[in-house]
Amino acid sequence: MIRGIDIKFKKHKMGEEVYLKKRQVLNFIYELKNEGLRLPRIEVKIGEPKNCNVLGIAILKENKIYISDSAFISGENFLRHTVYHELLHAIYGCEHDKKCHLMNAYQPRIVFGKDKLVSIFKKYYNKYNK
Ligand SMILES: [Zn+2]
Repeated sequence: MIRGIDIKFKKHKMGEEVYLKKRQVLNFIYELKNEGLRLPRIEVKIGEPKNCNVLGIAILKENKIYISDSAFISGENFLRHTVYHELLHAIYGCEHDKKCHLMNAYQPRIVFGKDKLVSIFKKYYNKYNK
């Protein structure tokens, strides 16, 4: 999570590889919608952070997420974790929580599977959609 003014993120130009990565991210958003969650339209960019090593960046409450190439190399659940985490920042302005698997500032190397990640996401969703 980085606030708008601090962003140093080189967005890749659209090409086949970038398109496929973006598809993967969008699929994780669709799978949440398929769970019945009502989410706003999210702007997704793929790229590389400059001068830092983050997996993703969210523009708080602006529904924009930037996902780094490095988030794509450790498997599906790892990427899902990154996307859900950034979505909670981007949609609700949700903050980090050391005690939460999903909203910890540091993404664990071993992440939960889909069902558990969805259920944590829903917990936040319900909190912000009362
Ligand atoms: Zn974060």
